[in-house]
Amino acid sequence: MQYRKMGSLEWEVSALGFGCMRLPARKFSLMGVDTSRSVKIIRSGIDQGINYVDTAWFYHLGESEKVLGQALQDGYRDKVKLVTKLPMILVRKTEDFDRFLKDQLVRLQTDCIDIYLFHAMNIGQFEKMKRLGLIDKMEEAKRQGRIRHIGFSFHDTQPVFRKIIDYYDWDMTQIQYNYMDTGIQATTDGLEYAHSKGIAVVIMEPIKGGTLANPPEKAMEVIRSSSSRHTPVDWALQFLWNRPEVATVLSGMGNQQMVDENCASADHSGVDSLNQEEEAVIARLAEIYRQKLLVPCTACGYCMPCPAGVNIPQNFAILNTISLETNRWRRWTTARGYKKLAASKDHFDREKSNGNASMCVDCGKCLEKCPQEIDIPVELVKTHAILGRQEAISKHYP
Ligand code: SF4
Ligand code: SF4
Repeated sequence: MQYRKMGSLEWEVSALGFGCMRLPARKFSLMGVDTSRSVKIIRSGIDQGINYVDTAWFYHLGESEKVLGQALQDGYRDKVKLVTKLPMILVRKTEDFDRFLKDQLVRLQTDCIDIYLFHAMNIGQFEKMKRLGLIDKMEEAKRQGRIRHIGFSFHDTQPVFRKIIDYYDWDMTQIQYNYMDTGIQATTDGLEYAHSKGIAVVIMEPIKGGTLANPPEKAMEVIRSSSSRHTPVDWALQFLWNRPEVATVLSGMGNQQMVDENCASADHSGVDSLNQEEEAVIARLAEIYRQKLLVPCTACGYCMPCPAGVNIPQNFAILNTISLETNRWRRWTTARGYKKLAASKDHFDREKSNGNASMCVDCGKCLEKCPQEIDIPVELVKTHAILGRQEAISKHYP
């Protein structure tokens, strides 16, 4: 196992972290966990050098924390940093903080959580966090020794990410990032920005929910023709480990084979470890995926700012993700991202460019700036038809 810097924290973290959101399932159960198989693979990961385990109140409808608590008995608790999250969506009043944390400590069979996160922060949860004084509660819990460090996981747009990062002296942040998602959510800019402030950046969805594990045939040809031997998953993971800003990469591992393969990948990982040919392969894979995408936007941001407040790359990133994603749940959550963008002048923030595609006034100012020569206003009309009015993709991209 390789170990890396955890932002400004005084400990080294394994390149691979164990995400406990896709543990082995019980037979005939949608979300129920097979406890003995889960305990076995979690301990196997730790035996192979993993020292960072991540769970949350919601994972497996609460069973994940309980099973992880069991897995960390018999001396395993001392071998890892244990991370879980306050379920922000369920928090209604300030006192809820103590109720959840108390229950989570019981579930996890520990008296201290190494990093406690605000779960799935977006602009709405961020405002609630401030309104209810939850940072104060975090700091109080820290003084009491119930948690050691404070962070947040993130699902919103890049301007919101910067806003949250700038609000507090965070120890870590957990973002969605992979070689396809460099331009959505926190984006590469957010990754670099958080790192520049000494905040440990933990990566989730490194394989884009499995999408990058099953490349289209054209991408497989590129993989097979490379002189470097990597599986599709390994290519995706090495892309992340190559970046100095990344602390650890979480993988939601559901069987022994995944644990063994990912630990083997982590063994030969490192910052700046990819050679030029390998970087070119990943760039080619991303390019092929993008060809499958509806709008060839690379999220370079050259077209921004839009005078009407449209977040042009964000709109296209959501549309493309919907097009590529095969998982219905993730399609649904991605589509919700569009609803969070502003649809009228009453809600949009010119400074942060949070407008959805319908805000485009067809001024044409972005056109000559786009190196991909995308007819941006035309594509935005289609984007809104699909994401705003729920029209079929095939109607606009036959
Ligand atoms: S054409 Fe639309 S998206 Fe482009 S700058 Fe004008 S308003 Fe913004
Ligand atoms: S300039 Fe073109 S490629 Fe770059 S972010 Fe804007 S639309 Fe996307």
